[in-house]
Amino acid sequence: MAVTVGLVAQIIEKIAPKSWAEDWDNVGLLVGSGSDSVERILITLDGTLEVVEEAKAYGAQLIVAHHPIIFRPLKNLRADNAAARVPLRLLGHQIGYYAAHTNLDQSIISSSRALGEVLGLQEMKILEESAYNLIPIPKRDETARGYGISGYLKKPEKLGPLWKRFLDSLSQSGIYAQPYELSGVRLAGSLEKEVRKVAIVNGSGGRFVPKALFKGADLLITGDVDHHAVLDALEGDMAVGDLGHFLSEAPMLQAMYQYLTAEKSLQGIEIRVSSLNRSPWLG
Ligand SMILES: [Zn+2]
Repeated sequence: MAVTVGLVAQIIEKIAPKSWAEDWDNVGLLVGSGSDSVERILITLDGTLEVVEEAKAYGAQLIVAHHPIIFRPLKNLRADNAAARVPLRLLGHQIGYYAAHTNLDQSIISSSRALGEVLGLQEMKILEESAYNLIPIPKRDETARGYGISGYLKKPEKLGPLWKRFLDSLSQSGIYAQPYELSGVRLAGSLEKEVRKVAIVNGSGGRFVPKALFKGADLLITGDVDHHAVLDALEGDMAVGDLGHFLSEAPMLQAMYQYLTAEKSLQGIEIRVSSLNRSPWLG
């Protein structure tokens, strides 16, 4: 049986239903048709022109992305409209675009969990549980959902050596599909600080500082934290490790790859993680 875009969507929505996405988000099939057949899939965080060209060269009919490409309504599809460039290119190459964003962040393959495993966290729990978890289990389509995780180190470690251990093991952990440069990584806090409880939120996690403080975390690992959020964290005696948006979310690419390749109904199609999708920052 031929694999269609619609089937791939259904498989992803088993772990990340579209209804989980935030109201402001834009998830699901954003370009293309559910009935289009698929022989190759390219997985990426971002749908840049470069990645669309990579998909074309690979012979992919579908891009499975984390970040949506159309946030505000498009008023035209003109070549000189920057926001229309990627959708136009996708249409030109007849490549579909499917995004799983805040729904994927709350799923079992969010990278917060993968990063927690690299750190060796114990007793991992969802950091910010969704109210959805209050619905009795038989009525839910998954066990539990929410943003980020928190957990305990096996034994307390000083922040300095702990951060070094974490970065060293990140590159060797196999959670990244590509050997990404660990650049732009930042740490705020006293290197001597004892860390026992750690909170992790993939993506822009600055807004989770109050939640992580409330949960008693000694360290929050996330991406894209702004100046004021870091000051709030330090004020509450919590250190912050900022991996940058890309590195904090890239483990999801590998997790999505593993999830899709393990799926029986997708056997026979080829799947690859983009090798051109990288952090846009130079250092
Ligand atoms: Zn993101």
